[in-house]
Amino acid sequence: MTARGVYRWTVLAVIVVCAVVSYAVISHRLGGPAAPKPGPRPDFQLPFPCGEVWTLTTYPGHDDYDIDFFAASGPTGGRTVLASAAGTVQWAGWSATLVDGRPAPPGSSGTRGGLGYGVVLDHGGGWFSEYGHLAADPQVRTGEHVERGRLLGVVGHTGSTSVDHLHYEQLDDTRDPKRTRGNGDKVEALFDGVPSGITSDAHSPDQTRTSRNCALTSAPPPA
Ligand SMILES: [Zn+2]
Repeated sequence: MTARGVYRWTVLAVIVVCAVVSYAVISHRLGGPAAPKPGPRPDFQLPFPCGEVWTLTTYPGHDDYDIDFFAASGPTGGRTVLASAAGTVQWAGWSATLVDGRPAPPGSSGTRGGLGYGVVLDHGGGWFSEYGHLAADPQVRTGEHVERGRLLGVVGHTGSTSVDHLHYEQLDDTRDPKRTRGNGDKVEALFDGVPSGITSDAHSPDQTRTSRNCALTSAPPPA
């Protein structure tokens, strides 16, 4: 290659490198803020009183990570539901729809969709927990701050079920850029730092867990 040829190729290479670097810098600046990251995960506990034993289950057609809680012994209906972690009540009330899409009357069961009487807690840092099918209007109000262990309501079968149980979810709404707290934000629930084992609506075997949702100053729960 002649000296002139080397010069031409060098100039061309410099132009290409400058173009690539400029594109990278500009596209980075135009990209807006970086995707949000979740804050520290709250120390979620079972949403039931300290020492109670519950079965965690799911079924095909439930969403992955959704948990249905049934009491391991004794009746499930009427049992108290507690906040899994401290937070702010993002929503508390009635939500259910009929087959034709109209809102279902408050207190009804066997609706096409909806939590029925339910609660959504905002724990900060993108973390949420949801509680559904309560027997009656929740014991907390939207916007209220709650401590872990706060009474939210009692287990029932309102909304899209006719069997007493608690529907429960943990969500990290930084996973979905739209921050909708939709299915893409659901995560495997952890209780007392231990994974729930409910990760697939088709393949997750039932689990049995004892609540460590104990008063912060109390002795350890009964074994
Ligand atoms: Zn459920």
